[in-house]
Amino acid sequence: MKNIIFYKYPKTLMNKGTGFLSGYSHSLNPYTGCTFGCSYCYVRQMPVSTFSKEEWGTWINIKMGAAELLQKELTRAKKKGKVTIFMSSSTDPYQPIELKEEVTRSLLKVVVENQPDFLFVQTRSPLVHRDIDLLLGLKDRVRVSMTIETDREDIRKHFTPNAPPISARLRTLKLLADAGVPTQATIAPVLPSTEAFPNELVKVTNRVCVDDYFMGDGSGGRRTNNLGISLMYEELGLAKWYNPTAYRVVYDRLRKVFAEDQVYLSQKGFLP
Ligand code: SF4
Repeated sequence: MKNIIFYKYPKTLMNKGTGFLSGYSHSLNPYTGCTFGCSYCYVRQMPVSTFSKEEWGTWINIKMGAAELLQKELTRAKKKGKVTIFMSSSTDPYQPIELKEEVTRSLLKVVVENQPDFLFVQTRSPLVHRDIDLLLGLKDRVRVSMTIETDREDIRKHFTPNAPPISARLRTLKLLADAGVPTQATIAPVLPSTEAFPNELVKVTNRVCVDDYFMGDGSGGRRTNNLGISLMYEELGLAKWYNPTAYRVVYDRLRKVFAEDQVYLSQKGFLP
């Protein structure tokens, strides 16, 4: 299906970090909307989606003039104190349209020239590798967090059919780490996975964050419940994985391979 694309000039770009992101001074979204359209995306329940006539995952709003706006806002914010930025909270900065539009790349150029104290890049896309030159310019002021919810491709296709394959994400993390970019694998939300999952992760990163709907959807799991995600587990005969204690299975498996200070839980894994 063809996506609906809008081009708009935003009035503001950086937003105050609040709630789950209260450890950050700002969040930064290069786009509104996200064509990965993951089934469990909590943004589906937020005004940006519920006020839209189009279904979440089918439309995207490209922010025009974003780099110029960021330059002004960043300069102003840095005069007021420490600036830590989470990119992105309600879109994926490296969704497919970024290959052509390069909004995220234009923002990274600004950030490299006028560096904040820290930038956290959250994505599930191998496209982030394109910007390795810029990410290296931020040295230890950046971390790229790659969402990898499972090692099972059948599970990935069931919950996120439009997202990139797991193998490509693992490869990207390795490329970033080998180049010297600080990374993290983010198992969020925890999806059913195999016992071998930690062995795959340890080959490509030295840090993992585990989060689930109940800790991390900003409503104790209520938003996810409203989306009817439990049915998707039942369809697979894997209802036991839709449970506030299921993350423990993955956490304990990880701890057999990773040290305690390499495995983070929920919000702690996203802090600057
Ligand atoms: S990539 Fe992130 S923002 Fe985009 S649909 Fe999936 S969960 Fe939502």
